[in-house]
Amino acid sequence: MRAEERGEIWKGLGVLEDWLSGGIRRERQVPDFSSVPQAMDLESVEEGLAAIAREVESCRACRLCEKRKRAVPGQGPARPLAMVVGEGPGAEEDESGLPFVGPAGQLLDKMLSSIGLDRGSNCFIANAVKCRPPQNRDPATDEREACLPYLRRQIALLRPRAILCAGRVAAQSLLGGAEGVGKLRGTWRSFEGTPLLVTYHPSALLRDESYKRPAWEDLKMFRERLAASG
Ligand code: URA
Ligand code: SF4
Repeated sequence: MRAEERGEIWKGLGVLEDWLSGGIRRERQVPDFSSVPQAMDLESVEEGLAAIAREVESCRACRLCEKRKRAVPGQGPARPLAMVVGEGPGAEEDESGLPFVGPAGQLLDKMLSSIGLDRGSNCFIANAVKCRPPQNRDPATDEREACLPYLRRQIALLRPRAILCAGRVAAQSLLGGAEGVGKLRGTWRSFEGTPLLVTYHPSALLRDESYKRPAWEDLKMFRERLAASG
């Protein structure tokens, strides 16, 4: 084959390649990444969390705003390993503006510390509703629904490797449905792609010691998943 002919063939192939890849390029064009969630820098996450906290503190989206002293947005680092979701503020939390600081909170801190978690370094603590239900009644469905967008936004910003739901109210807020902790615990579930485990609320453990053993099983399961997640 003469050099000229080879040149022609290569040119032909080149044209073919151009045509093919041009087609591919046109098909793919510039991908639109604007709607794909990207890992945010730490400062933006912190700003996002602070913005949610400010909104929560002045929120009037449900009747729980009427009796609250302080709203309780949540507490913990902006890049946590894990997140705990409780039910809602009690008396001490309503006074202080911080989650889980009363008797149940002290037990929760011990439970978390037994699996290497704490709110000062690697675990963010939040609640299904951010304002105290009067007389510590269960938050109503419409109150949970009104408050859920805040929790949802917190989870999206924090991107924890796993979520621990303490009690039925937290579990039902994130998973929907009407099942109790007895049914929901013991199996990994998911909230929008984030692994989620349900366990008993620490105040249930304070009321009934028989929940301690299954709760410890749940905590170990939670710890194992976190360890395996790298
Ligand atoms: N119980 C909860 O569910 N959350 C708190 O913050 C305190 C007690
Ligand atoms: Fe707003 Fe949630 Fe407080 Fe209701 S409980 S007023 S939705 S922050």
